[in-house]
Amino acid sequence: MQPLDNLNQPREPADDYAAWLARSPTPFQAVATCVQQLRAAGFAERAYGGSLAAEPGERIYVAHPDGKSLIALVLGSRSPCDTGYALVGAHTDSPDLRLRLNPLGEAAGTVQLHTQFHGGLIRRSWLDRPLALAGAAYHVVRGKDGRPRFHELTGLPLVTRSLVHVDAPIAVIPDVAIHLDRDKNDKGAVNPQTMLNAVLATGDGSIDEALAMLAARAGVDFAELDGFDLHLVPAVAPQRVGLDRSLVTGARHDDLAMVWCALQALCESVDRDPNPVRTRVAAFFDAEETGSLTSSGAASSFLRDVLVRVARRHPATPASADPEQAFAHTFCISADMAHAWHPNFQDLHDKKHAPRINQGPVIKANASDRYATTGETGAAFVGLCEAAGVHVQDFVIKQDLTCGTTIGPIAAAHLAAKVVDVGCPMWAMHSAAETCGAKDLEAMVRVMGVFFVGG
Ligand SMILES: [Zn+2]
Repeated sequence: MQPLDNLNQPREPADDYAAWLARSPTPFQAVATCVQQLRAAGFAERAYGGSLAAEPGERIYVAHPDGKSLIALVLGSRSPCDTGYALVGAHTDSPDLRLRLNPLGEAAGTVQLHTQFHGGLIRRSWLDRPLALAGAAYHVVRGKDGRPRFHELTGLPLVTRSLVHVDAPIAVIPDVAIHLDRDKNDKGAVNPQTMLNAVLATGDGSIDEALAMLAARAGVDFAELDGFDLHLVPAVAPQRVGLDRSLVTGARHDDLAMVWCALQALCESVDRDPNPVRTRVAAFFDAEETGSLTSSGAASSFLRDVLVRVARRHPATPASADPEQAFAHTFCISADMAHAWHPNFQDLHDKKHAPRINQGPVIKANASDRYATTGETGAAFVGLCEAAGVHVQDFVIKQDLTCGTTIGPIAAAHLAAKVVDVGCPMWAMHSAAETCGAKDLEAMVRVMGVFFVGG
């Protein structure tokens, strides 16, 4: 299969995005790829458990200890108590299949990996697709005597985390033949308990043999693991699609496309204006697909803690000021993907609110507050798009359908800040192969750039 490359065509941002996405199969790797890029742009790590005092112009990032959420900041010259934060939020997790505890089993002459699902994935999209394995593996640190070692201050067993990415098609979840299930085209429900287990190997080989092969592939001895967060992910790399190469297919556009856009905009903002007045923040959270109520989700105290601590220790913050004053002036762009008008399902959109692929960012509004956009914050985003020279669209779900939600309302509630919910339009959200528009990514980066740097 030849990639749809035109040798005369220069490399475009969407190509960079596709390559970045391929290196980010799970929230762990997504955070790691972000960190790599931030370091290259001069950002330095600050431990969540250490001091967050930083000077104007300093670039820092704080990774959540669980490795799945990340906050990056460019410190402004004025106190955040005066200027508020220029904040963009997005999420690192996507609907996918994860290994159950004790995941291996044998059935019908195969060794299987038993899975559980994260978020509202389109189950059928995971069938008949080469799958790779990625995530994190954990070991208890043991002394020479074989006994667990403990942290001298916290008193907890020492546990190490290593990232795993077996970037090879090591498994598949086969569908069943239509000859054996004649009704499947009409009634093809996919039972997640019984029909989403993946075949890892065939033959008379035992589980031990499969484990040995996996260890050889992954460089991790799975039999020795004390814990894991491992995901099965599509083994097909994201790619440009369409005669005009205007589309990008791949897993996890929701919401790594918005993570990538925010990251580009933040890093580029440093080149354009390295000494901002207002502190710029890009915050990426895990667990949006399951409601955000985890240690590092948007509903945790992670973001608020970091912002309060940075504001309190900012050299321009007077001793008389309370750091929470910053939230009164803070504006948050909550960036999560939007549903594009679908050529094969045209009636699912209200024609007046039917965003089209490659026609620009989408403002998402919902009167039941599933999105945090208000008339005022939507207007501000229109102003940003105008200053960026970018066409803007809007989305209001048909009133006889149920609206999804995102981190916007959560951020608004936790910070009491102004929030607008936006995203790039896409098809097949939560499929194992989603489709978004190449030009929309560039447009969103431009708009976020204006937000960070100014018009
Ligand atoms: Zn999302």
